[in-house]
Amino acid sequence: MGGDEFVVLVEECENAETAIGVARQALAAVRAPLRLAGHSITISASVGVVEAPAAQTTAAELMKAADTTLYWAKAEGRNRWALFDPERHAREITRYELSASLPKALQRGELFIEYQPLVRLRDEELTGVEVLVRWQHPTWGRLYPDQFIGLAEETGLIAPLGMWVLTSACQQARSWRDKFPDRALTISVNVSPRQVKDPAIVDDVADLLAASGLAPERLQLEITESAIMATSGEPLKTLHALADLGVQIAIDDFGTGYSNLAYLRTLPVHCLKLAGPFISGLRTPAQADPQDRAIVGTLIRLAHTLGLSVTAEGVETEAQADALRKLGCDTAQGFRFAAAAPADAIDEWLTFGG
Ligand code: C2E
Ligand code: MG
Ligand code: MG
Repeated sequence: MGGDEFVVLVEECENAETAIGVARQALAAVRAPLRLAGHSITISASVGVVEAPAAQTTAAELMKAADTTLYWAKAEGRNRWALFDPERHAREITRYELSASLPKALQRGELFIEYQPLVRLRDEELTGVEVLVRWQHPTWGRLYPDQFIGLAEETGLIAPLGMWVLTSACQQARSWRDKFPDRALTISVNVSPRQVKDPAIVDDVADLLAASGLAPERLQLEITESAIMATSGEPLKTLHALADLGVQIAIDDFGTGYSNLAYLRTLPVHCLKLAGPFISGLRTPAQADPQDRAIVGTLIRLAHTLGLSVTAEGVETEAQADALRKLGCDTAQGFRFAAAAPADAIDEWLTFGG
């Protein structure tokens, strides 16, 4: 097909095994060392295997699938065969299409925000909200951040997307402050590692605070544990500059990564958000795993020793809320209190209570 590309058509294949057998033979044949001008030379090949009923496919489709599969074999480390997997192919296409439609989504207003209450455990007062982005996709319906934030990171779109989220969040916070002046809500926004890599975020946040009139300590930025632990050099300066603005910094999903505690001490961080898996061990009093309880208790004491407040994520039952309250945890978030919802739901909470 090309200088170094060949096609083997195996007719009357009983199943994929027959074609795979041919691929194995071909790989072995190519792999055999050959002597050239007194040197021993080994070469390797990669094979993409596609099995398809002749009646239901065209040569062009078959060749395209083979090419895709060849690419998989190469990506897996070469000198091997890979078998075409229609589901994997469909997933990759969806990923590609999502990634291509993301820039337009932002312009067309397909992205929107939901707010999830953060509740003080002592008295179950609403003290803040976490800002969670969603995408109402015209074809695929509602998409959650785990389905597109990674793509936005890869393509660089996270910069405008993150800026849009921050801007909307600050405006919404300002509107709540105007409507409920005696309630001091904290608005907590997730920021991804790539956003903190760009020092421009410091001026952007300062401008947003000035424009919205929001007190800096009412804005919290959440950065995941793995991202914050990998922060050094320029991004670390950015983090310090953000903290110097008076903005709160929270470590999100704490306990899912590997924290260097000596390093953690030196970071400008104000809050630890304990990851859901720790909290799930406290689901019901009967189920409560004593080890989980001890770990959570230790983490809460550790955070308090470091002068940090603690928020528990994924609190779904009263037993969990109760256990966390007894362990001295400050704030909680989860379906036990409320799932993420549109801004109106927070207005209602502020008006009528939770
Ligand atoms: P996260 O910051 O840890 O957010 C908490 C996630 O847990 C949310 O999922 C929330 O809906 C879910 N959750 C809340 N309460 C419960 C509960 O009681 N039980 C369980 N099982 N889950 C609960 P969501 O909205 O799908 O967000 C997933 C992740 O996407 C977030 O994790 C955050 O890391 C990221 N993310 C969301 N919005 C943004 C954004 O604007 N920018 C960036 N960079 N990341 C975002
Ligand atoms: Mg978060
Ligand atoms: Mg989290």
